[in-house]
Amino acid sequence: MKIRVQKFGGTSVATSERRERVVHHIRQALNEGCRVVAVVSAMGRKGDPYATDTLLDLVSENGESLSSREHDLLLSCGEIISASTLSSLLNREGIPNVVLTGGQAGIITNNRHTNAQILTINPTRVKNELEKGKVVVLAGFQGKTTDGEITTLGRGGSDTTATALGVAIEADIVDIFTDVEGIMTADPRIVEDASPLDAVTYSEICNLAFQGAKVIHPRAVELAMQTNVPIRVRSTMSDHPGTLVSSTHEKNQLAGEVSDRLITGITQVANVTQIKVPAGEGQYDLQLKVFKAMSENDISVDFININPSGVIYTVFDHEADQAEKILRSMDLTPSLMSGCAKVSVVGAGIAGVPGVMSKIAEALTEEDIPILQSADSHTTIWVLVPGENMVQAVRSLHRKFGLHKVQMMY
Ligand code: ADP
Ligand code: ASP
Ligand code: MG
Repeated sequence: MKIRVQKFGGTSVATSERRERVVHHIRQALNEGCRVVAVVSAMGRKGDPYATDTLLDLVSENGESLSSREHDLLLSCGEIISASTLSSLLNREGIPNVVLTGGQAGIITNNRHTNAQILTINPTRVKNELEKGKVVVLAGFQGKTTDGEITTLGRGGSDTTATALGVAIEADIVDIFTDVEGIMTADPRIVEDASPLDAVTYSEICNLAFQGAKVIHPRAVELAMQTNVPIRVRSTMSDHPGTLVSSTHEKNQLAGEVSDRLITGITQVANVTQIKVPAGEGQYDLQLKVFKAMSENDISVDFININPSGVIYTVFDHEADQAEKILRSMDLTPSLMSGCAKVSVVGAGIAGVPGVMSKIAEALTEEDIPILQSADSHTTIWVLVPGENMVQAVRSLHRKFGLHKVQMMY
């Protein structure tokens, strides 16, 4: 018997009309002869009554008063409410089902509250319920420690619940249902003519997701990649098959074929501060001091550039003040530029291909967008630009690489 995991994101369960679509997709999988695990997120977005951000707002007015353990207890309720609501709809339709919390589904995490990592999954209970012919409605984004404490997996963590469980129960496929038709060449909220991609490799989407494309959580992709469970990212509101994410070696295994493309997409991360720390005369250990201090204070650094005249790196805007204070307390004289954006051109095909950087320089120079810093790997070229130029930079790069013309093969 085939097992299908279907994950429904916050917007997919936000209204009764959308929840009817969720029931439709579950019924369709059942009709195809699959056993179904439906993983759900909390309903809606900030402002909606039971959304994760709304639950956070309940306590944010009291300052930092909630401990991380209780924070997880609070947030786990959003997914449980959503799962129970879906259960009642399935009951109405005569579809036997059972709701499980992450802990009840055997998802064991470490005790890093608010951002816990899954250690193991014991899928016995889920398998037993499936064998009884029930749809398992699983509250996403949560697990429990070996001591039975409830934990949450970090923002966007329901994707991770879905693929981790998919791996544990050897699902045929994990469907990530969301509010777009699939993975696109850029965030459609920024680039109106972004093209949907019919198939991408795990590593292509990992690169996009790590560089800011929040359509799927990168950790979720990494987990699926370990055992080659295919993922489809698709829209709750349509029956379109969406984007197939699989490994290059099994490129024809389902409907899509992974083509040899140069650039997969353009993505962006906003609210980044560039920090430049000049080195004193003959000061060769500057990088050691700076990065040790950042690490001791739990500040994560990115876009690192070390040269004899000093070190340059970025931190998120919300950690910039703290970083500056630390550097000044060490008698250093940093200069900071906040509100920058890291724009990434991602494509497994760029390795060794001449002319990619030249096109990037052309696109940004034509629009008078300053490049504050750049770096590259065999799959990605990053540029740091002033925040006010972010949208323009993403759009011009998207156009320069012809990504608005990418054709679906379905
Ligand atoms: P969900 O609540 O279903 O998990 P998310 O908001 O986490 O949904 O992810 C879907 C959103 O991801 C889309 O609405 C879209 O704006 C955004 N997004 C960012 N980059 C991309 C991309 N390259 N392709 C598709 N969507 C993207
Ligand atoms: N509800 C959680 C969040 O908003 C988890 C998720 O939706 O994946 O981050
Ligand atoms: Mg999400």
